[in-house]
Amino acid sequence: MSNSSLICCTILSPNHSGKRTHAIDTITIHCMAGNLSVESCGALFARSSRQASSNYGIGSDGRIGLYVDEENRSWCTSSRANDQRAITIEVANNGGSPNWPVSAKAYEALLRLVTDICERNNIKRLIWATDKESRVGHLNGCNMTVHRDYANKSCPGNYLYERHDEIAAEVNKRLSEDEAPAADPVVQEIDVGAVVKITGSKYYGGKTIPGWVKAKNWVVHSLSGDRVVINKSEDGKNAIMSPVNIKDLAVVNKAPEKWVPAVGDTVIYNGSVHYISANATSAYKCKGGEAKITAIHQLGKSKHPYHLVRVSGKGASVYGWVDEGTFTKK
Ligand SMILES: [Zn+2]
Repeated sequence: MSNSSLICCTILSPNHSGKRTHAIDTITIHCMAGNLSVESCGALFARSSRQASSNYGIGSDGRIGLYVDEENRSWCTSSRANDQRAITIEVANNGGSPNWPVSAKAYEALLRLVTDICERNNIKRLIWATDKESRVGHLNGCNMTVHRDYANKSCPGNYLYERHDEIAAEVNKRLSEDEAPAADPVVQEIDVGAVVKITGSKYYGGKTIPGWVKAKNWVVHSLSGDRVVINKSEDGKNAIMSPVNIKDLAVVNKAPEKWVPAVGDTVIYNGSVHYISANATSAYKCKGGEAKITAIHQLGKSKHPYHLVRVSGKGASVYGWVDEGTFTKK
């Protein structure tokens, strides 16, 4: 089970019940009844005296925070049964009662987050019902619930409540678009490290390629535009460092694939510090070892773009954001 990679910060709350006893099949959108940033909302939920939490929070600036790992049950909707199966999301309000409106940025972030949650948890479509009975009973596939059904509250506020239909429609549209078969990718097979054979008769500069060179397979050394430099022979016996036009080459073996770290990968963390957010400046000590990537934040832009969570029982204590290049594939 994973968390959304759309988060910009993780402020884990102690207020949860541990692992869920029901699969995630429901979305419950809440309103903060205040204009809290994801950090201030996280700080509130970080206090155990608060006895409340949500899986995610969204600020009026559209940033998203994680407070309770998706695999755990948050304390959000005044209903144990609901929170066992629902991902709960608190959205900041840029206006007050009774509408509790949200900013356009927060609304768009909500659509993106809910789409991402549905995709990762295999929720095919969102189904909203305008009557409480269908929502609470999950009748006819209804999988969106609201706090006001379980407690005497106006949550999620009229603004979001009245948009549940629209949220379901927009998320379903995005889900079906993402599902559409992608066009065949343009495969750039001739890459550094690929093994090629020569199908043409001339080098890039126009000189005729000798028969013994044509007879062998070659490893691509470098390439630029249509100019491919081949160097070593596949058998390792020759090195010719010669340019050939890309159209005069055919791939025999593709270049070995480079590992691109992804959410869900198990890694060995070689560092000894972790950070509370992807751009935090203070490092906290931790023990390296076996961990999982649970989020990646703005690779190339943030200081510590990978969120690692220790694999329990393997000796590591890392649970936070770490730098690029500090871990290896397990
Ligand atoms: Zn609520």
